[in-house]
Amino acid sequence: MSGVKSVQQAKTAALGRGGVPAPCVPDQHTKGGPAVRKLLSSVVSEFDRPVHAVDVVTAIDQCLPLPDLVPCLNPLCDNKCSWSKGAGRPREYCRRSCRQSALRTHARLTDEMMLIEQVLAQGGVRYTDRVRLEAHAAQARWCLRRYTIGGQ
Ligand SMILES: [Zn+2]
Repeated sequence: MSGVKSVQQAKTAALGRGGVPAPCVPDQHTKGGPAVRKLLSSVVSEFDRPVHAVDVVTAIDQCLPLPDLVPCLNPLCDNKCSWSKGAGRPREYCRRSCRQSALRTHARLTDEMMLIEQVLAQGGVRYTDRVRLEAHAAQARWCLRRYTIGGQ
């Protein structure tokens, strides 16, 4: 797996329970403790003048860091993708096969929803069949919301 920038459920301070990024809240004030990290928006809101790019650049260093390890975009995958600081496009999926699997599942769900819409639009569907078809389409739509299919 050379060249693959993913790790299996790696632990990182940037992620909270279940691999979900920790909520973006300022750290607690502690006397003598480390510097308080804030949200970028709260740092720039403290300016009493128009904010410029140089202000934002400076503020970034004072803010909570962004997560550099996030879940793979395949909702059925538990792997993580790390942020690539170098050149090149950052990974959205842990590996090519995972992306292909997500694309196939997305296509399947879309096809099933379209098929159900077509047969329901024909009319004359028995009540029990309609209920079953609408339930299946609703489940497919529910699953589909988890897929953020884009290019990679
Ligand atoms: Zn994956």
